[in-house]
Amino acid sequence: MESHFTAKGRFAPSPTGRMHLGNVFSALISWLSAKKDGGKWVLRIEDLDPQRSRREHALWIEDDLRWLGLDWDEGGLSGLGDNGPYSQSLRAGFYEEALGRLEDSGLTYPCYCTRADIMATQAPHESDGRVVYSGACRPVRLGGKEDNGNDGLGERRLRATRLFVPDEEIHFDDRLYGLQTVNLASHCGDFILRRADGAWAYQLAVVVDDALMGITEVVRGSDLLLSSGQQIYLYRLLGYPVPQFSHVPLLCNGAGQRLSKRDSSLSMESLRKEYSPSHLVGLLAYFAGILPEPFPISASGLLPLFSWSAIHRSPTLTVGTT
Ligand code: GLU
Repeated sequence: MESHFTAKGRFAPSPTGRMHLGNVFSALISWLSAKKDGGKWVLRIEDLDPQRSRREHALWIEDDLRWLGLDWDEGGLSGLGDNGPYSQSLRAGFYEEALGRLEDSGLTYPCYCTRADIMATQAPHESDGRVVYSGACRPVRLGGKEDNGNDGLGERRLRATRLFVPDEEIHFDDRLYGLQTVNLASHCGDFILRRADGAWAYQLAVVVDDALMGITEVVRGSDLLLSSGQQIYLYRLLGYPVPQFSHVPLLCNGAGQRLSKRDSSLSMESLRKEYSPSHLVGLLAYFAGILPEPFPISASGLLPLFSWSAIHRSPTLTVGTT
């Protein structure tokens, strides 16, 4: 019998501001990749950070995606589909369940370090903003109940929950950047699953959500390339199938900096005043390497032209002038 594989991709924005050109670049490629062969595309709202996430930002994200012609089959604020809710702030029960399984297997430990404690242990060369945890709270022996936070401190100080990571290499094949190797012990050390204030860590939430939503391909910016190592480790521990990872170049301004909310001329608010949807989609497709020159085209018109082999493989692409 013929079996037909249907891809399921997703776009998982954090609603912390209006999208910019870089966000919609990742969204477009993710959408094209999922939809090209008739797959599905999920919109998940990653509003784990209550301080920075706003419902009106999520509404703008939806409006901007619709304006671009990037329609989703599941998700969004209305919660369309069978795998909801699709906002991370409403999914704590799923994260609790996954964390409970890791805790019961003796794979986690409580951590009482403050941010200052952690920063004080960083080598000066850690200049890329990456924090490698020293293991200050790591119990000497793995497992036993006595290591599980019952040291008296737990009553008095808030505790984060960390995952033990092994000193071994994790390999994966990124669809654009090829074979990647990450050693979690040197890349990040034992990493946080739940913060001391109770907030869920991105790494746990993203794995649980992608797995429970049946995502088969993760397409996102290359800044998250090496996070995939942490995520693959969690997929394995939790017994979930690992999706295909595809990271795409980050768009940079003329000064070589990754686009951010500071580049207001490249925010969707400004871009929608200057371009029509088909002009903007054509420009993004040209930046990606799908079109030889920018010409107006709709997102669905691009579907027959899309192929991963056309996409530029550099980690960044310079698009702005400032
Ligand atoms: N929510 C993350 C962000 O907006 C993206 C996470 C992901 O795609 O895995 O940066």
